[in-house]
Amino acid sequence: MRQNIIVLVEDSPADARVVTRAIDKLGDPSLIVMHFDTAEAAIEYCEKDAKWTSNQRQIVLMDLNLPGADGLTCLRHFKSSPRLRHIPVIVWTTSDQPRDIQRSYERGANSFVTKPMGLKAVSEMVRDLCHYWFERTTLA
Ligand SMILES: [Mg+2]
Repeated sequence: MRQNIIVLVEDSPADARVVTRAIDKLGDPSLIVMHFDTAEAAIEYCEKDAKWTSNQRQIVLMDLNLPGADGLTCLRHFKSSPRLRHIPVIVWTTSDQPRDIQRSYERGANSFVTKPMGLKAVSEMVRDLCHYWFERTTLA
C-alpha cells in the first residue's frame, strides 16, 4: 500500500497536536505523520534512519522558529542533500514577514504557508496540502 509521509518539524507541542489531529481526522490510512521537535532530529532521521521505499512519498512540513538549528538552516540542509533534495519542503510558520518568505524561497522552499488560527482552519489547510501534494502532483 502506498504511504504518504508527512515529516512534521515543529517544536510547539500544541501546534504539532493540531496538525496530527487534523491528519487523523482525514481518516486516510495512507497518511503517516513523523513528528520531530528539532531540525537536527528530523535531519538525522531523514538522512540515516528513514528507509525510503518505492511505495512511499514524503513531504516536509517545517516550522521556521525552532530551538537549535532553525527552519532556514534545516531547509538549506534538505535542499543540498542528494538524498533529500527531491522532497518538497513546505515552510509552515506563524510568520507572514516578507523577509521570511523571500529567504525561504531563495533557499528552495516549495511552499510558504502561514499557519492559520484555530483547529478548523488548520484542518482545512492540512487537508488541502495533503490533497495537493499527494493527489494532485506527482512526487519523485
Ligand atoms: Mg516554533
